[in-house]
Amino acid sequence: MSRQTVPDTEPHPYSAEPRSAPETRQLRLSGARLGNSLTVRRALPQARRRMVGAWCLLDHFGPMDVCAGRGMDVGPHPHMGLQTVTWLFKGELLHRNSLGYQQIIRPGQLNIMTAGQGIAHSEETPAGHSGCLHGVQMWIALPRSCRHGSADFEHLDSVPSLRIDDAMATVLVGSLCDGTASAASVHSPLLAADIRLPAEGAATLPLDPGFEHALLPVYGDTLLHDGIWLREEQFWDLGMGADRIALSSPRGSRLLLVGGEPFDEKLQLWWNFVAADREEIVRARADWEAGRRFGKVSNYRGERLPAPPLAELPGAGSSAKR
Ligand code: MN
Repeated sequence: MSRQTVPDTEPHPYSAEPRSAPETRQLRLSGARLGNSLTVRRALPQARRRMVGAWCLLDHFGPMDVCAGRGMDVGPHPHMGLQTVTWLFKGELLHRNSLGYQQIIRPGQLNIMTAGQGIAHSEETPAGHSGCLHGVQMWIALPRSCRHGSADFEHLDSVPSLRIDDAMATVLVGSLCDGTASAASVHSPLLAADIRLPAEGAATLPLDPGFEHALLPVYGDTLLHDGIWLREEQFWDLGMGADRIALSSPRGSRLLLVGGEPFDEKLQLWWNFVAADREEIVRARADWEAGRRFGKVSNYRGERLPAPPLAELPGAGSSAKR
């Protein structure tokens, strides 16, 4: 994974001129397949933006009618060197992992799984589901200092919300303006917030100008800085240095805001692994195929996922597949 671009000069935090949106640009979403069951819209990584802070993968799935299909069914698979964050707008998922956790997650709750040196998990639409599924899953690259640490899993029954002007902002990871903070454990300066605007609502959110930020419209149309329409099926890179975003919506909207300090370690992202180099990935792949290191996911009815062929592992750069 290539090094992130960092401006030569840091934005001055007390600048009289507010830095609103220094390099706002629209990026595309691509389709990606999860397990055998589900197609998602992938915002990160992509060629023009590998990461936003330590956020190295962002998938948006649904809304979908689960009754018409299988919903989510991703068999046991390994992770290394990253954290996964799951947040639902509608529906429910059943998470099982090799630490022995078996956890249903619903809207308003947050799952954060730390892979460290290795963990395995499955994700599926549970029996007795509500018939709908809509959410995001995001990965956070772990810094070198804890990339090889032990695995962990947190389920937060709730995360805090605050009103900012007309908006309700729910803080999934990190903290927002007045210090409202999520209890989710992360290892680099990061933000993820779910922002809901009512019809004819407007809000100006203060941002940390030392962060890179991006916006994923979830539903509805939102006007950014009175000049840019953010619409469903888009992804917007705000770059670094913005100290606020001014949002408004004629008919109501919902957006996911992610941000973080530029992550300046060189990384390889391959399949479900984040690593410093190809050799770590080759070892992790071999350990998964041999049934070592990652543990066993109990009670999942189905097969674990095999690793893709090594031929798909690039010698340099990165790809992202699950
Ligand atoms: Mn996974």
